[in-house]
Amino acid sequence: MKINEALIARLHMAGTAIIVAALVLVMGLLSIRQIRQEYDSSSQALQLRDLQRHQEFLREQMTVAQGFLTHMRTHTEQVLKDQIREQVDEAYAMAAALYAREHGHRSDAAIRALIVEALRPLRFFNGKGYFFVDGLDGRCLLLPIAPEREGSSLLLNRDDKGALIMQGLIKAAETPAGQGFVRYRWYAPNDPAHMADKISYVRAFAPLHLLIGSGQYVQDVEAALQRQALDWLRTYRFGTQRRGYFLVYSADGRVLLSPSRPSHEGLRLSALPPDGRAAMRLIEEQADKGGGFVRYDWSADGNPAHTAPKLVYVGHLPGWNWTLAAGEYMEDFQQTGAEQQAALQESIRGKIHLTVMVLAVGVAVALLLGWWFATLTRQLLARYQADIDRRTRELGRKTAALEQSNTDLEQFAYVASHDLREPLRSISAYITLIERQYGQSFDADGRLFLSFVRDGAKRMDRLVLDLLQFSRIDRLGDPIRPMSAAAALDEALQALAVAITETGAVLELDPAIAQAAVLGDFAQIERLFQNLIGNALKYRSPERPLRIAVTLAETRDDERAYWEFSVHDNGQGIEPASFERIFGIFQRLHSRDYEGTGIGLAVCKRIVERHGGRLWLDSTPGQGSRFYFTLPQAEMKDVPPPSGGPI
Ligand code: ADP
Repeated sequence: MKINEALIARLHMAGTAIIVAALVLVMGLLSIRQIRQEYDSSSQALQLRDLQRHQEFLREQMTVAQGFLTHMRTHTEQVLKDQIREQVDEAYAMAAALYAREHGHRSDAAIRALIVEALRPLRFFNGKGYFFVDGLDGRCLLLPIAPEREGSSLLLNRDDKGALIMQGLIKAAETPAGQGFVRYRWYAPNDPAHMADKISYVRAFAPLHLLIGSGQYVQDVEAALQRQALDWLRTYRFGTQRRGYFLVYSADGRVLLSPSRPSHEGLRLSALPPDGRAAMRLIEEQADKGGGFVRYDWSADGNPAHTAPKLVYVGHLPGWNWTLAAGEYMEDFQQTGAEQQAALQESIRGKIHLTVMVLAVGVAVALLLGWWFATLTRQLLARYQADIDRRTRELGRKTAALEQSNTDLEQFAYVASHDLREPLRSISAYITLIERQYGQSFDADGRLFLSFVRDGAKRMDRLVLDLLQFSRIDRLGDPIRPMSAAAALDEALQALAVAITETGAVLELDPAIAQAAVLGDFAQIERLFQNLIGNALKYRSPERPLRIAVTLAETRDDERAYWEFSVHDNGQGIEPASFERIFGIFQRLHSRDYEGTGIGLAVCKRIVERHGGRLWLDSTPGQGSRFYFTLPQAEMKDVPPPSGGPI
């Protein structure tokens, strides 16, 4: 892939688009989540409000029913009282008439008996009503339902709650008005073993110290009243769908009213079918807690597939000890909230649209800005690239010029050194001729001068040869290929064998070298070893026997692995100040005392650099030097086997 300003701009744009898309996605998701939460909480609030209104509504229904039923109860009690009073007033009038007629003719006792017997047969209230007459001292004079008690004192008679009945009657008769109503309990007419609530009205008949009274069992009246009340409740419907109605349970655990299942009426909990039983149990439990709301599923037609949740308010009717339950299907009430839900949904939809629009505008703006920045980047990069291109071209031109001058110089050095050898060879040849033919005619000085000329020519030949070699390293070297470092080192040592023997040098060769394959030009690597070991031999210390070690280590840079060789001697050593200088061409530290041209290390450096390695040294003057160089590693398997002939 070609990297240019257009690609960078495209990458910039793509990066911006990806970041913006990711941000928009995250923001969009977050906003939608928030809107959802808002919707959920609003819709919950709405549902809660609905529920509260529904509850309020059911409570109102309960209040209405309770109010009406209570009114019915109390009002009817009044009617009952009026009826009794009317009867007693008639009896009183009768007694008064008798007394008026008989007074003075008969004794009070006889008149009393007359009155008692006149009242004894009288019955009313469907035959259940009768009169009783008692003395104001508590003696029973007339009690048609238990004549055997007549004549005895009932003053200490108590009802099953411990109230003194007779005393209550006397107390009412002895009020200033001489009359009054009394509530107590008395043997029930149809169940003489138990007592029931009774209301009586008594009136004092002062002339004879009597009280005349009559009573009604509340129970009888209430039974009729309750039937009326239930009839009224049965038809009572409420709610938008008129599907709300009342359930009534009696204190003794019977179903009194069940408008949706009249067949349940009169049954006890245990006799009800499962759905009715579950509902009744829930309602009764709530009633025991003092009333409140319950919810259950109910099927209006008894089909279990048609059940729907119902909200029911449980209340109590104190006088009759009824449990009242006002219930309505929740769906009927929720219909009113459905519109609000729809409005809420509409507003949420609006919010989502707005969010999407805002995000879309944001994306457009971000992409526009991204595009603008990308364009700007591209322009800047183009300018920068043009600048680099110009400099590269300039550099290329300079490099080409440098290479040209280098080649020219090498060419010059080569040609010069090559061509210089020709006249040098003639000089040497003629000097040999002169020596041979005219040598005897020269005096001692002449012969010395002649030997100087021969040495000069020889040295010059060495110099020219070295220069020639140096100039050929790069251009005329062999190709670089995998080779054995040990083989090159071996060749070098063979070439130096005489010097090694003469100096008595001890050589230590790292055995690992045998396995080291390098990428190299064999002849040049051999020369490298030869120059370095040759120097170690040459610049030895006269003070100690010479030891030369050749070591191997591994190293690598960012790109590849190298073998690091070192040639380590215990010779004269080199001043650190000369470390750089000795690698320069014709640079010598020892000049005349030692043979040499000062080109050996320059050749080494050039060889190592041609191979992509490094050459450096470490030395302590008087102790020895260590020359290091690196060469790229090769695989031993790639090294061609030795051909046997000279390389
Ligand atoms: P030459 O040996 O022909 O003088 P070189 O380029 O091989 O040229 O060496 C340059 C100089 O570096 C030498 O003249 C010598 O002074 C110094 N030198 C090289 N190798 C060693 C060594 N092993 N110990 C001490 N000095 C050295």
